[in-house]
Amino acid sequence: MTTTGFVTNIQRCSTEDGPGIRTTVFFKGCPMSCVWCHNIETIDADPVIVWYAVKCIGDQACVRACPESAIELTPDGIKINRELCKVCGTCEDACPTGAIKVMGNSWDSDSLIEELLRDKVFFTTSNGGVTLSGGEATYQSAFAIDIAIGLQANDVHVALDTCGYCSEKIMRDTLQHVDMVLYDLKIMDPQKHEEFTGVPLDRVLANAIIVAESGKSVWIRTPIIPEHTDNEENIRSIAQFIVEKLPNVVRYDLLAFNRMCTDKYKLFDLEYPLKDADLISEETMEHLADIARNEGVENVEWSGMTKNSTILTTNDEQEEKPCAN
Ligand code: SF4
Ligand code: SF4
Repeated sequence: MTTTGFVTNIQRCSTEDGPGIRTTVFFKGCPMSCVWCHNIETIDADPVIVWYAVKCIGDQACVRACPESAIELTPDGIKINRELCKVCGTCEDACPTGAIKVMGNSWDSDSLIEELLRDKVFFTTSNGGVTLSGGEATYQSAFAIDIAIGLQANDVHVALDTCGYCSEKIMRDTLQHVDMVLYDLKIMDPQKHEEFTGVPLDRVLANAIIVAESGKSVWIRTPIIPEHTDNEENIRSIAQFIVEKLPNVVRYDLLAFNRMCTDKYKLFDLEYPLKDADLISEETMEHLADIARNEGVENVEWSGMTKNSTILTTNDEQEEKPCAN
């Protein structure tokens, strides 16, 4: 049966979202609301209209086209009244420069599978595949499962990139149709977890154990966020949980914070809460990785932007991979 869902982006040539060359699908909708979220456009399950100032020539074609009178040109640029907007897409069609866009395209599962299979040769030659990400792919679980089934039927490796917050049933159902899991463990203090992500920790930990029981290969990932997740105690607790409860973890990634999403927040008339936060130092990333290693976690890697340099990674031995297209 064909299902439909909303996707914000299909990113080809990814080498960070699982093994090999991968195509990552960003599903719309997420149950968490992390203070540091880098993909704000994916949190809301429904499509939204966004305006890119840099592409706008100010001809007001969108203003004239909007049937809801939801757009006006102000001295600060185009303003969209989101109370009035019905996300009909008329303004996107009218705009000559692509400056106003619906974020969140509707796909039916058959068409999306067909689109993803265009990259199959790259998956085959690199031992890569497709990663279902977001947002949170399990938030549209029926759609995500249909995509996974269709890809596996075509011998494509499927990874689920999950925040871990969904019902036990959805997690178990989804696991049946994926080959591996990228699982976020962000904060081990229950109170801080709820404060900084908006959801309770216990469901995330219970689902992690369900993933372990499935025997699927798992990469655990922790975003290292200043004054939120970057303390020694947090990383030690996550490492201990991995060693004690998750025997199928094959890699632990620490992902250094950056502020590159700051401009994305402006598209939604929002201010990035961590826009003034300092980058993490290379020494701190090394130190946190060592804490995890000392607790007995194997294959601990860190990557991302640091104070000392631009993009660094402990994954130095990783071979350079060609771009898929
Ligand atoms: S999506 Fe439709 S309702 Fe919303 S601003 Fe554009 S034209 Fe107006
Ligand atoms: S139609 Fe496009 S280019 Fe013209 S004012 Fe609207 S957003 Fe800007």
